[in-house]
Amino acid sequence: MFLPVPDLFGEIEPGVAEVVPFDGGARAYSYSVPAALKDTLQVGQLVRVPLGGRTSLGVVWKYPAEAPPAAKLRSIILLEHEQPVLTPDVCKLAEWMAGYYGCGLNSVLETVLPAAVRKGVRPVLRRLLTLIAPPDAEALAKLRRKAPRQAQVLDYLAAQKEPADRAKLVTGLGISQQAVDGLLRAGVIKEDASVLWRVAYNDPFAEAESVPAAGHTLNVDQLAAVASVSQSLDSKAFKAHLLHGVTGSGKTEVYVALIRKVVAEGGSAIFLVPEVALTPQTVGRLRSRLTDLGAKVVVWHSHLSAGERFDAWMAMSLGQARVVVGARSAVFAPLPNLRLIVVDEEHEPSFKQGETPMYHGRDVAVMRASVLGAACVLGSATPSLETWKNATAGRYVLNSMPKRVDDRPMPAFRIVDMRREVLHSKGQNVLSRELVDGIHERLRKGEQAILFLNRRGHSRSLVCPDCGEAVQCPRCSVSLTLHSTDHTARCHLCDHREPAPAVCPKCRSPKVRWKGYGTQKVEEVIHRMFPRARVARIDADTMGKKDLFRKVLSDFRAGRYDMLLGTQMIAKGLDFPRVTLVGIIDADLSLQLPDFRAAERTFQLLTQVAGRAGRGTLEGAVVVQTFQPASDPVQFAKRLDFQGFAAAELIKRSEFGYPPERHLIRHVFRGRNVEKVNFVADAWVKELERLHPGLAEIRGPAPCPFERVQDQHRVHIWYFVHGVKSFLAAALPLRAKILGDDDVIDVLDVDAQDCG
Ligand code: ADP
Ligand code: ZN
Ligand code: ZN
Repeated sequence: MFLPVPDLFGEIEPGVAEVVPFDGGARAYSYSVPAALKDTLQVGQLVRVPLGGRTSLGVVWKYPAEAPPAAKLRSIILLEHEQPVLTPDVCKLAEWMAGYYGCGLNSVLETVLPAAVRKGVRPVLRRLLTLIAPPDAEALAKLRRKAPRQAQVLDYLAAQKEPADRAKLVTGLGISQQAVDGLLRAGVIKEDASVLWRVAYNDPFAEAESVPAAGHTLNVDQLAAVASVSQSLDSKAFKAHLLHGVTGSGKTEVYVALIRKVVAEGGSAIFLVPEVALTPQTVGRLRSRLTDLGAKVVVWHSHLSAGERFDAWMAMSLGQARVVVGARSAVFAPLPNLRLIVVDEEHEPSFKQGETPMYHGRDVAVMRASVLGAACVLGSATPSLETWKNATAGRYVLNSMPKRVDDRPMPAFRIVDMRREVLHSKGQNVLSRELVDGIHERLRKGEQAILFLNRRGHSRSLVCPDCGEAVQCPRCSVSLTLHSTDHTARCHLCDHREPAPAVCPKCRSPKVRWKGYGTQKVEEVIHRMFPRARVARIDADTMGKKDLFRKVLSDFRAGRYDMLLGTQMIAKGLDFPRVTLVGIIDADLSLQLPDFRAAERTFQLLTQVAGRAGRGTLEGAVVVQTFQPASDPVQFAKRLDFQGFAAAELIKRSEFGYPPERHLIRHVFRGRNVEKVNFVADAWVKELERLHPGLAEIRGPAPCPFERVQDQHRVHIWYFVHGVKSFLAAALPLRAKILGDDDVIDVLDVDAQDCG
C-alpha cells in the first residue's frame, strides 16, 4: 500500500492562503491567515494584504494553501466583507486565461471584476419586510389593544405594494427592533436580505419592446435539441453543444426552455449575446418568459454605471438574480450553482476583446463550463469554422435545426452581377434595377424592406485624377470618408475630421472627385427615387444614443417606416414579420478585407442579413449585389448551404495550416519611429528562432494592413502553433530581453480575429 510521506514544506497548512493583490499582482502570493479568520475565510473573498511597503486589496485565491518552503509569511490584514466577489471556478478560469492569453492575473481580474468591486465598495444590505398573509380582523383588533406598535407595523405593511425596508420602517414609525422581531417570530411577516436593486430601476430594458410572453409549443427539432441538452444538464458533467439552426428556426425558444429548466431546478444560467444594445428583443423575450418562475434577470452591458454594475454583481453573487443576459464579460458572472452557459451567435467576432486580456468570450464560456461540469450551448445559423470542426469531430454535440418554424420557406436569393449592371445604368449605379423594382413592389403592397450596406458615411474616398492620389488621414494609412451632414472628411480609424477639401491637398488640382458610397449616399438615392417612402437609417453616425436605436426599431415594427437602411447594426437577430425584401447593396465589401476569414465573414454576413427576410407568414426575397457573383461565399449563401461552404473552406484552411487546423497568434509591434519598430520586430524573430528553433511556423515581420494608426507604425508577426501555452511559455521571457524601452510596444493576440 502506498503511504504518503509527510512533506514538511509542501504540506497543506490551514493557516496559509494565496491572495492576488490588485495593485501589482501578476500572480498569487502566500499570506498567513489571522486566527480570527481561520475558520471562515473563503476563496473569492476580498481582503487587504501588505504588499511591499504599502497595502492592497486582493482576492483570496486558494485556501487552505501550501506554505512556500522556509518563507516567513506576512499576514492578511483584514477581511473587507463576507460576501465573496468571485466564485472558485472563476478563479480557476482566470488562471487558465492568464496562461492561455499570456497576461498577468491582475490584468485578467481587471476585466473580470467591476471597478467598484475591486475598490472594495461594500454591498448595502437591506432587510426587506413583507406581510405573509393579511391578519384577520379579530386578531388585529386584539393586537391593537395588546401591542399597538406591532399593529402599526402590520397596517403599514398592508398599505405597501413593495416590500418595505426594515431600517426605514423602524425609524419612520419610531418603533423598536424587538417589535419587528416579535412579528417575525409569530410568522406574520417575513424578512429577506437584499442588496439595493438600482439596476432594476435604471434598466433601459425595463420596457424593452413588448414581445408575447407566452411560449410556443416546441416543434420536433426544438424538442430534440432541448432533450439533448437536458440530458447533459442532468448528467452534471461538462458538455458543449452546437445548436446549428437556420435563421428563423427558433433557437431562442430552445435557449428559453433550457434556462427555464435550470432555474426551476434551482440553478443559474448565463446568456451571452454579441451586443446587448443591439438585441433588445432577446432581452424582452427572456424577461417575459422567466417572470412566472420569479427569476430576476440581470442585463449586463457597457452602458451600466459603476454603481449599477456593482449592484448587479452583488445581486448575482448573493443569489438574488439567477440569470444574466449580457455581452462577453457576463461570462464571469458570480452566479452560484451555475449550470448553463448559452452563447448566441457564437460566430460573432465581437465576442473577442480588443484589448488585454484579448480573450474570446465563447472560448472562455466553454472553458468555464468545463471547469464547473456545466453545459455550454453555442448557437448559430453560421457557426464559426472552429466550432464547426469541434462539432463534426465529435468534441461537441451537434444539434441541428435545418428548417424554419412552421415550415416557413427560406428566403429566395437573387444575385445581381453589378459588372453588367454598371454597363447599363443610367445615372446612379448604387441600386440595381432588380432592387429598385423590388422596393417599388414592397411599397405598393405595404410590406417592408431592409437595405444593408456595411459602410457608413457618404463617399468612400477622395481621388485626384491628376496626381493619382487618394487623400489619406494625416495620422493613419486609410482614405478619408466624406460625411455629407457637416461636409467633413473623416478617418474611420481615429475619427480625425477636417473640412472636405475642394482641391487636391497634394497638387492643388480642382479635379478631385469623391468615389464610392456609404449609407448617407444610399439614403440620398432612396429619397430621390422613392420620395414618399419612409426610411430610417441606422449606423454609428445616426445612433449615438442606444435608446434611439430601440425607438427606431419599435417604430419600424409598428409600421411607421417602410424601409430600414443600415450597417452591421441591423444584421443581427432582428425579427420583423413584415419584412419581405432584404437588399445587400455591396456583398463584396467584406471579401476585400485583408483577413484569412474574409470568405467566412462574407458568407456569415450574407446568410445572417438574408435571414431577416420572410420571418413572418409572408415569403421573403433577398437581392445580393456583387461584382464577384461566382465567389464561394456568394454561391454557397445563395444555395443556403452552410455545410458545403464549411467543407470547401476547411480544405483551403488546412492547405495553408490556418485555423482551425492550428492556432494563430498575432504579434503586433508599434511605435512612432518606424526604423525602431522594424528593428525590434526583426530582432525578436531572430532571437526566437535562435533560442527555440521549430517552436512555431513564423510569418513576418511584415507591415500591418493598417500600417499607420494614430501616428503609430505597426508591424506584425504571425505564429502558427499547435500548442498555445507551450509557445507562450517559451516566447514571453524574450520580452524582457528585446523590448527594452517604451518606444516600441508589443501586443500578443492569441486566436486573433482582427488582422488589420
Ligand atoms: P432564430 O433565432 O433561430 O433565428 P427565433 O428564435 O428568433 O429564430 O424564432 C423565429 C420566430 O419564430 C420568432 O418570432 C419566434 O417567436 C417564432 N417561433 C419560435 N418557435 C416557434 C414554434 N415552435 N412555433 C411557432 N413559432 C415559433
Ligand atoms: Zn492631386
Ligand atoms: Zn486616422
